[in-house]
Amino acid sequence: MTTPNTDNAAAAGKPSRVLVLNSGSSSVKYQLLDMDDRSRLASGLVERIGEETSRLVHTPPAGGGGPRERAGRIADHDEALRAAAEELAADGLGLDSPGLAAIGHRVVHGGLRFTAPTVITDDVLKEIERLVPVAPLHNPANITGIRTARALRPDLPQVAVFDTAFHTTMPEYAARYAIDVETADAHRIRRYGFHGTSHAYVSRKAAELLGKEPADVNVIVLHLGNGASASAVAGGRCVETSMGLTPLEGLVMGTRSGDIDPAVTFHLKRVAGMSADEIDVLLNKKSGLVGLCGDNDMREIRRRVDEGDERAALAFDIYVHRLKKYIGAYSAVLGRVDAVVFTAGVGENSAPVREAAIAGLEELGLAVDADLNAVRSGVPRLISPDYARVAVAVVPTDEELEIANQTFALVDN
Ligand code: ADP
Repeated sequence: MTTPNTDNAAAAGKPSRVLVLNSGSSSVKYQLLDMDDRSRLASGLVERIGEETSRLVHTPPAGGGGPRERAGRIADHDEALRAAAEELAADGLGLDSPGLAAIGHRVVHGGLRFTAPTVITDDVLKEIERLVPVAPLHNPANITGIRTARALRPDLPQVAVFDTAFHTTMPEYAARYAIDVETADAHRIRRYGFHGTSHAYVSRKAAELLGKEPADVNVIVLHLGNGASASAVAGGRCVETSMGLTPLEGLVMGTRSGDIDPAVTFHLKRVAGMSADEIDVLLNKKSGLVGLCGDNDMREIRRRVDEGDERAALAFDIYVHRLKKYIGAYSAVLGRVDAVVFTAGVGENSAPVREAAIAGLEELGLAVDADLNAVRSGVPRLISPDYARVAVAVVPTDEELEIANQTFALVDN
């Protein structure tokens, strides 16, 4: 006997939806995707969790009206996820819906053990907890999200997709710091890299844009969001990336310094009397673009540069100079480069950053066409002139879709 059912996926007999959860320290982002056609059914963001001014914004499916908002204190991640589940239920897409195949969780640090997406068991959760000392800012929130989701749907497959996984193919000589081996191993100190889901997705899309298989191309991916990282991807495998033990290493970011002489930290401790925690906050939250000029939004920085603001101009130059150094270094690491690809908030939207980062790199086969670079679009596109030996491209990233793809691939059998 069949009961009336408006749930198409369930009616078809096969659950095909994936809920993607990205639990940050004070926020939860969620997206519900239909894997039959990779469409986004609903999405939302809960921010300022734990504060009086918490806010949930939920975007219902097409035809379901505009975004809905809830304001007022949401005490913790548990409450946040329950509120999100209520909003989804109001759209007929609740967590108890038979169409839901799995929940995919973004987990920042997977250490060396997790080289691929993994179905979450008690043992897996324990291992993610064991990694908290190397990811104190990120893994605890991810763990809370997983615990809550498991409590809400204990029977449903839950999958962890790790930011570090794509980088586990880095050769040992790229992953190790040149420090005492025993000390490094005792404390699991090595370069892990982050934003791996984005680097994986974007490098694959770039190969598609070039009309080639990922195995046949060498790509430099520049993920320039508020956090920023570069990667060198050879034949679909990551061989080098700019973030290290933590997301602090590498490029200049919105609020992080990126590369710095480690002796700066001893100096700050000895001479300025700063504590380890204060230095941590300085380098992670008060440095980068915001430390250099007071703003971390590239739109605002460019507006100030155009008005002749010298501090903003210097911040922009430092940001671009670091990018150039990485493009050069990764060209050397790869030997042959087929494409340099810009992605994330700054990479996808800031034509001036792309132009400045590639300027003067003709000897490396790189050039940007001003007209193509000025085009604004949400699809993958080339911005290099026909004559350039190496393609320069803009490829919008979609970490949620990649998490959903990886999650679904693991549970759809
Ligand atoms: P994250 O996911 O790391 O928070 P995003 O990838 O969303 O970051 O990028 C956010 C950043 O992108 C903003 O801080 C801003 O600097 C930049 N950005 C967004 N839109 C534009 C734009 N139109 N022009 C230039 N920069 C932009």
